[in-house]
Amino acid sequence: MAESKRDYYEVLGVSKNATDEEIKRAFRKLAKQYHPDVNKEEGAADKFKEIGEAYSVLSDANKRRQYDQFGHSAFEQGGAGGFGGFEGFNFEDFDLGSIFEQMMGGSFGRRGSTNRRSKGADKVVNMKLSFEESIYGCEKEFKVNIDEACDACSGSGGHGETTCSTCSGRGRVISEQRTMFGIFQSESACPNCDGRGVTFKERCSKCNGKGYNNKDKTLKLRVPRGVEDGDTMRMSGKGSVGPNNGPRGDVYIQFKVGTHEIYQRDGRDVYVKIPLTISEAVLGCKKEVPTVQGTIITEIPSGTQNGDKFKFRGKGIDDEKTGRKGDAYGIVSVIIPTKLDHTQKKLFKELSETKLDKSSEFTKYNKYIED
Ligand SMILES: [Zn+2]
Ligand SMILES: [Zn+2]
Repeated sequence: MAESKRDYYEVLGVSKNATDEEIKRAFRKLAKQYHPDVNKEEGAADKFKEIGEAYSVLSDANKRRQYDQFGHSAFEQGGAGGFGGFEGFNFEDFDLGSIFEQMMGGSFGRRGSTNRRSKGADKVVNMKLSFEESIYGCEKEFKVNIDEACDACSGSGGHGETTCSTCSGRGRVISEQRTMFGIFQSESACPNCDGRGVTFKERCSKCNGKGYNNKDKTLKLRVPRGVEDGDTMRMSGKGSVGPNNGPRGDVYIQFKVGTHEIYQRDGRDVYVKIPLTISEAVLGCKKEVPTVQGTIITEIPSGTQNGDKFKFRGKGIDDEKTGRKGDAYGIVSVIIPTKLDHTQKKLFKELSETKLDKSSEFTKYNKYIED
């Protein structure tokens, strides 16, 4: 109703003698603010339409003149200033959004989603690995639940395929819109074939026309050497098939690596505790040290202390991804015996009668003992 309509100048927030440039600027600003892709508030779409309508009139010198003279009634059928070409114009009839996009340089993206052959869904799979499997790599088989192209209809969704007559198989149609801004061409998915380019005599009963079926599939993965807990790997194109036989999604593998009895990993380095008896630590010895790259024989010097650290270069993780090798570290842990037999007890007693507390650690400490 003309009466309930807001004044077009008021809608755009400009004065009656605003220049074309001012009108344009006001419109762009408001259109961005109320575009339904951006503004999800209630009433935004109506507001957006109102703005578009106001602009379509005020940006056209001829229509602006008519409006200035007759107000809204200028554009009503049979209205005071009724003129050809504008009567019965209905804003519902065209896609304001696409016109605005073209005006605004496509700043409202999102379109192009009419392409029905989009990529299939990705899938994330958690994979447990033992410590050894993660260090040395392995082959793993696992099941994944994905959409597979229907074998009954080869993913098409139907039988008796014919080229769509509406779009001649293109899947998309171009429509021309005559508007006050000029003529706009826009492309959209063909409504007859839903963008497929073909229609079917009969819908496939196995997949219900979807073109795919949900299945458990067994996949094989070669896990490279050196993967770590929390690492992910992408198996490109192993996920669900896309709609209308579109490209497959990916499968992402997320590794969960178990712990090890004696090895501890820190990046590419591996730590191992070297247990020594008191006599080995005191007298020194040749000691076998296991690493993830094989056993090493190393010389433990006499007087080795608890917590002393030995480095074995290049004996850590052989990381296939980066081609780099980590180091192994042996940390000495002197084990105090808790069960002694008769002879051992006697020997320790004899030993304790000798002077074993010659280290400065003892001297410092004893200074603070009060009599
Ligand atoms: Zn079509
Ligand atoms: Zn089928």
